[in-house]
Amino acid sequence: MLQPKYKRVILKLSGEALAGEVGYGITAPVISSVALQIRDIVELGAQVAVVVGGGNIWRGVSGSKQGMDRATADYMGMLATVLNALALQDALENIGVDTRVQTSIEMRQVAEPYIRRKAIRHLEKSRVVIFAAGTGNPYFSTDTTAALRAAEIEAEVILMAKNNVDGVYDADPKKVATATKFETLSYMDVLNKGLGVMDTTAITLCMDNKIPIVVFNISEEGNIKRAILGEEIGTIVEG
Ligand code: UDP
Repeated sequence: MLQPKYKRVILKLSGEALAGEVGYGITAPVISSVALQIRDIVELGAQVAVVVGGGNIWRGVSGSKQGMDRATADYMGMLATVLNALALQDALENIGVDTRVQTSIEMRQVAEPYIRRKAIRHLEKSRVVIFAAGTGNPYFSTDTTAALRAAEIEAEVILMAKNNVDGVYDADPKKVATATKFETLSYMDVLNKGLGVMDTTAITLCMDNKIPIVVFNISEEGNIKRAILGEEIGTIVEG
């Protein structure tokens, strides 16, 4: 049987990755495809925690640009991630995958509150844990949530799922024909070159805690499995 290279992983799903081509809202077939890919890696024996974004529904920065109080707009963004988490939970449970949603803002009727030790216990029991509501703090992002939770649960890698782009490039490959993909990057490269892998808070946290990041295209079926088996897809950020 195939052995995963990484035993415990954080999969970061941006809101965009759940919206698919449409770019906004929740697209059921896209979520179902992601759920099937997640089931594949659970069956390989990987312990999977997912951090979901909310940009397909609401981003705090957009609200504040429209004159809204930034913290309020950010809380709205965190609530948006909960919608995505519940949709993903539903899709996973539909195909027989045990899941738990844990939120950083308490809403006990909807999900468990985030409790680190409990999350680890769920993972050990092969349940997929979906972390929602970001870090629970405004002015942060779900990328930072992924880095923080990865450090807390001692995940070996963060799998950064991107939509329709297969790694990190030196220019936007959709606009620049000569754009070149990086196979590997150091954290400092990402920071110095201002590459859009994650925001700087998230990258710094990964650097300080030596958590590798694999940036890959989730739109290509089977890629989560390839990533977890250690195949060279996308770009790896480490060192
Ligand atoms: N957010 C926040 N604190 C966090 C995580 C998220 O305030 O710890 C808010 C922020 O407004 C952000 C929104 O939630 O714009 C959605 O998250 P994000 O933009 O990271 O989602 P993604 O880009 O991954 O879809």
